[in-house]
Amino acid sequence: MLNIVIFGAPGSGKGTQSERIVEKYGINHISTGDVLRAEIKAGTELGKTAKGYIDQGQLLPDELIIDILASTLDGLKDSKGVIFDGFPRTIAQADALKKMLAERKQAVTVMLDLEVPEDELMKRLILRGQQSGRADDNEETIRKRLTVYHSQTAPLIDWYKQEGLYTHINGLGELERITEDICKAIDQAYNK
Ligand code: AMP
Repeated sequence: MLNIVIFGAPGSGKGTQSERIVEKYGINHISTGDVLRAEIKAGTELGKTAKGYIDQGQLLPDELIIDILASTLDGLKDSKGVIFDGFPRTIAQADALKKMLAERKQAVTVMLDLEVPEDELMKRLILRGQQSGRADDNEETIRKRLTVYHSQTAPLIDWYKQEGLYTHINGLGELERITEDICKAIDQAYNK
């Protein structure tokens, strides 16, 4: 089983790279952001709750997102592994993921930190907002999301270093080179 945590600030390329990894390794992709956007589109109660947080650039409460992740994970059948995109985003979520996988006799194989300079993140997110119309890709909300990233999510870097699972990936440059670096890191961790 291959369990990959793809990590990085908003706009670091987690979604794009996840799609490539899914294709290469035949694993499942769980993006908590995509799950929430699907709930919003379907007009569910959960979607209504999620929209309030997303539009403010804030994280959903840990208990809520951990429940969502657990049921998404339970919904996978005959999976060869998972790439977790946008989860965990807090230490409590990382603890919960570790426990959830341990209950299934599994563990995180590697954590990939896609690092991209802040001015490039801003540029990419503003462009994405113009192209995709994602409501939270406007300058004010982007700034809030980056602040939330630094205060609540970035501490996971040290957490995963302590677990011995951290790998730095330079997220700036050619898409193909970034994918190659990611694949090397995955193969190395898997064969350890
Ligand atoms: P993303 O598509 O991963 O950038 O997520 C979009 C938004 O969904 C975030 O800004 C949060 O409001 C919410 N969200 C996604 N994943 C999580 C998570 N793991 N914990 C809390 N909130 C999340």
